[in-house]
Amino acid sequence: SVNTFGRPTWADIDLRALHHNLGQIDNLLHPGQRVMAVVKADAYGHGAVPVSRELVGAGISDFAVATLEEAQALRCAGIDANLLVLGGCFPGQEEGFIRDGLMPALLDLETAERLNAAASLRRQQIRVHLKIDSGMGRVGFTPEQLQAALPRLKNMPGLVVQGLMSHLACADERDSVVSVAQLQLFSDMIALVRASGINPVDFHLSNSAGIAGRYGPECTLVRPGIMLYGGLPGDDFAQDLDLRPVMHLRSCVAQLRKLPAGSGISYGHQYRATEPIQVAVLPIGYADGYNRLLSNRGQGIVRGCLVPVVGRVCMDWIMLDVSTVADVAIGDPVTLLGSSQGITISGDAMAAQLGTISYEVFCRISARVPRRYL
Ligand code: PLP
Repeated sequence: SVNTFGRPTWADIDLRALHHNLGQIDNLLHPGQRVMAVVKADAYGHGAVPVSRELVGAGISDFAVATLEEAQALRCAGIDANLLVLGGCFPGQEEGFIRDGLMPALLDLETAERLNAAASLRRQQIRVHLKIDSGMGRVGFTPEQLQAALPRLKNMPGLVVQGLMSHLACADERDSVVSVAQLQLFSDMIALVRASGINPVDFHLSNSAGIAGRYGPECTLVRPGIMLYGGLPGDDFAQDLDLRPVMHLRSCVAQLRKLPAGSGISYGHQYRATEPIQVAVLPIGYADGYNRLLSNRGQGIVRGCLVPVVGRVCMDWIMLDVSTVADVAIGDPVTLLGSSQGITISGDAMAAQLGTISYEVFCRISARVPRRYL
């Protein structure tokens, strides 16, 4: 929560926008599909506990995180929904998964053996989601490995294969031949697993882009992350989606100074005023996740005006040229990411400036920035 007497730099997390985006995702689901909300990396910087609580309230009962620690944090906060750990179970983590009733993505047979042994010892069962590498070239069973592993997996009393999952590599490109091949392979693997006598309840492979592309109608679950938070899953879908930013990064004018033409601003004097300039100094910097590559490039919204960052972004401060803003005053709120007064600096726009994706923009807003839930 925001300390009223803290530094005036914070991120508003608009939970109504989260609901709106969830509604947009719901519109894209095939009959019978449920949303498994991806809340890894602290819900892409939005706060995993408050976001998950809100989504539980909206009827979501399945969540995915990356690590055991992230799942444990949700359990500690009282989230008793189905929790899938996408990063799998590393050696030594078996007890943690069993104790908290967490589901690992099962990435290899060795881990299955360890989990089965640990669960059997406790006369318990652990639910797992078998991950197939259908073309991402990352983690999971290759089709050959799966075929070889199935007889062994079938005879592990400590394991319940709850789900069969995969991940799309190129779903952000509409009509990608890679996606078509992945979908076909996934269907084949579903058939193979069923033929072995293992009957998973859930099937899933779509991230946000896969949902936008309406892939995998036979799947029971979809795994949206970025769309929940208002980021586009790729340029190909920009026109079709009506998403709202959930995070709004804000700071306030701490100092105002009028400087004569020729003045240099910030480290290295990389900005030099060609005319007299009014500069606003804001207590936010790259340590807050406001990327240093936004030096002389970023923008802020103050009193309904879009104004440029001038000079280098410092660790704890940035400067804006507010010469054009009438009546600007110390204490004025400034929006650096998200919306204010009908103007938006989207995560996607900022990401384009930085040569990255909105995911990274959101994830990097650091823990030093308090989140305020609206
Ligand atoms: N599923 C897996 C396995 C992921 O790694 C991710 C995120 O990287 C997602 C789903 C969610 O993806 P997106 O944020 O593109 O919806």
